Amino acid sequence: MDLRLPDNKVMTHDHGVTGLEVARAIGPGLARAAVAVKVDDQQRDLSRPIDEDGDFEVITLDSPEGLHILRHSTAHVMAQAVLDLFPGSTFAIGPPIEDGFYYDFEVPEPFTPDDLERIENRMAEIVAEDQPFVRVAMPRDEALRVFSDHKFKVEIIENVDQGEVTGGEEVTAYRNNGFIDLCRGPHLPSTGRIPAFKVLRSSGAYWRGDQEREQLQRVYGTAWGSKADLEAYLNRLEEAEKRDHRRLGTELDLFSFPPELGAGLAVWHPKGGMLRKIVEDHSRDLHQRFGFDFVFSPHIGKEDLWQTSGHLDFYAENMYPGMQYDGDPAYRVKPMNCPFHVLIYRSRQRSYRELPIRLGELGGVYRYEQSGVIHGILRARGFTQDDSHTFCTEDQIQGELEHHLDFVLTWLRDFGFSDFEADLSTRPEKMAGSAEQWDVTEQALADALEAHGVPYRIAEGEGVFYGPKIDVHISDAIGRRWQCSTIQLDFNEPDRFELEYTSAGNTPARPYMIHCAKAGSLERFIGILVEHYAGAFPMWLAPVQVSIIPVADRHDEYAGQVKERLRDAGIRAEVDLSSETVGDKIRTALTQKHPAVIVVGDDDVENTTVGLRRYGEDHDTRGVPLSEARNRLTELAQKPS
Ligand SMILES: [Zn+2]
Ligand SMILES: [Zn+2]
Repeated sequence: MDLRLPDNKVMTHDHGVTGLEVARAIGPGLARAAVAVKVDDQQRDLSRPIDEDGDFEVITLDSPEGLHILRHSTAHVMAQAVLDLFPGSTFAIGPPIEDGFYYDFEVPEPFTPDDLERIENRMAEIVAEDQPFVRVAMPRDEALRVFSDHKFKVEIIENVDQGEVTGGEEVTAYRNNGFIDLCRGPHLPSTGRIPAFKVLRSSGAYWRGDQEREQLQRVYGTAWGSKADLEAYLNRLEEAEKRDHRRLGTELDLFSFPPELGAGLAVWHPKGGMLRKIVEDHSRDLHQRFGFDFVFSPHIGKEDLWQTSGHLDFYAENMYPGMQYDGDPAYRVKPMNCPFHVLIYRSRQRSYRELPIRLGELGGVYRYEQSGVIHGILRARGFTQDDSHTFCTEDQIQGELEHHLDFVLTWLRDFGFSDFEADLSTRPEKMAGSAEQWDVTEQALADALEAHGVPYRIAEGEGVFYGPKIDVHISDAIGRRWQCSTIQLDFNEPDRFELEYTSAGNTPARPYMIHCAKAGSLERFIGILVEHYAGAFPMWLAPVQVSIIPVADRHDEYAGQVKERLRDAGIRAEVDLSSETVGDKIRTALTQKHPAVIVVGDDDVENTTVGLRRYGEDHDTRGVPLSEARNRLTELAQKPS
C-alpha cells in the first residue's frame, strides 16, 4: 500500500498500519509531535489502521488543524469534569472556536466563578491521569441506549442528518475512562497530550440558539500547544479587554446603550458625536475626491420595492417586519440602501456619456440580529453604511474596480491602518449573470489587488450568487484582523430593475453595478478605531484635542484667551474649570487620553506662554510661546490628505 508524503516521496506500508507507525517510520521526533494524521485530506486518529493508498500527512500542534483537534479534545475533558462535579447536569455541544472552544451544559444553577475554578482543577486532574481517548463506533439504536440519560445527545443522534455525529446508521463516540461523548473525531491519543489550557468564563445560551428551547450555560475555554502560547494568548485577551470599545465608550463618554432603547441600539454623546462627525466628514471628503455624487434616501420603502430587489426572498430574516397604516401598502425599514440608489439611476433615461455614475450615501440601515450576537457598536441592529453604488459600462469595469480599491485603501490608510489582506470570492454553483461576466470581473478584481500589491486569498466558490467580490481585512494594533471594506459586483439587481443606458451605437444596454462600502458600518469602524488606538486617538480624530488647565482661579481668564486662540486655529480645546487640584486635572486629561494638555500659571500670563505636554510624554515643556504652541498643535492636528 502506497502513501504519498507532502514532499512527494512515496512510502510503502502493509495494510492496517496505523498513522502513528507511519509517523515513526518518517522520524521519531515527528511521531512524538503527532496528534493525528490525514489520509487524502481525511483526518484520523493516530491509532486507526490505514487501509488504502493516498496522500499522507502528519498533524501536529503547530498547525491550525492540530490546534483544532487539541481544543476539541479539551472540550471533552471539560464536559467530563462538569458531569463529574455537578450531579444532575447534562451536556449539549462543545465545538472548537477561534482561539479556543466552548461547551454548553444544562445545570440546576448557573456556574459561579468558584465553579469555574473547580472545573479547571478537575480538568487538570483528568489531564494528569493521561486517560487514552478511544474511538467507538456503534449502531444508532445502541447509541440511543448509551446516551439515554442525556436528552440533547439523544436529539443529536435522532437528527444525524445534521452532520454532527456521522453519516448513515453508524454513530461514533469517544470514550476516555468512564466518560463518553458523541464525536466524529479525530482526537489526541490521550488527555495527557493537552499541554496548556484554561477555563475562561461562562454565559447563558439557548439550545440550538433557539430562545424557545432550554436555557444552557456556555463555558468557554482555551487550549494551546505550549504554556508560552497560552500565556501570550491570555496577555492578548487582557489587552483586548482594556481596549474594549464598550468600556472605553463609557470611560471617554462617547456613547451608551440604554436598555430602554433596545438591544443593539446606541446613542452618541457629545464627544462620540464629535468623533463621529470627524469620521463622517472625512468619508464625505474622500467620496467627493474620488468622484462620487451624494444622494439621500428615506429609511423606509414599500414592500413592493423589496420584492423587486429580491430582499424579501433572500434577506427577509434580517429585516424588521412590515408596518402598515390603514389601507396603505406595507412598508419596511431598510436593511440596505441599494434599491434607493437604483431608483435614482432609473429616474431618467441614461446615456453611455454619463457613465460611470457613482452614487454615495451615509445611509442608516436596520437589520435584525439575534440578541446573542449583538456586540456594542461592532455588531448592532441599527447602523450607518458608507455606501455607494456605481453604474458603468463593461469597458469601464476594470478601471472602476481599480478606482474603488484605490479609494478603499486610501480610506483605511488615512485612519492609520497599513496591513491589508483581501479575500476574493469567486462564483458559486448557482449564479446570476453569464460565465463571461464572471470571468471578466473576477479577473479585473484580481488585477486590481495585484496592481495595489494587496496580498489576497481566493475564496473559491464563496461568492454570493449575484457577483464576485473583494473583502479587505485590516490588522489592528494587537494583531487582530477585522473585515472592513467590500467591493461587490452585482449582475442581479440591474436585471431585476431592468436598468439601461443608451450605448454609443444607440441601442439599449445594461450597466454593470458595483456596491462598495469603505468602512462597512461607520459605527463598527469607529468601534474598531477605539480598540485599535485604545482610545488615544491621533490628534485629528480626537474629540477634544487640548485640555487647558489654569493653575489657580486667577489664571482662568488667560486660559480662556488661550482657548480662543486655539479655536481660531481650528483646534478643539477645552478649559478645565473644575475645583480640583492641578494634579487631579492633569490626571483627568490623561485618563481622557486628550492628545495635549496645556497648563497656565503666573509666568504664562505675564509672558503669553504655556506649559505644553503631549499624551505619552511624562512631563510638560514650560514657557512655550503661545503662538509657537498654537503652530505646533495645528500641525499635529492636520487631517491626512
Ligand atoms: Zn470529540
Ligand atoms: Zn448595495
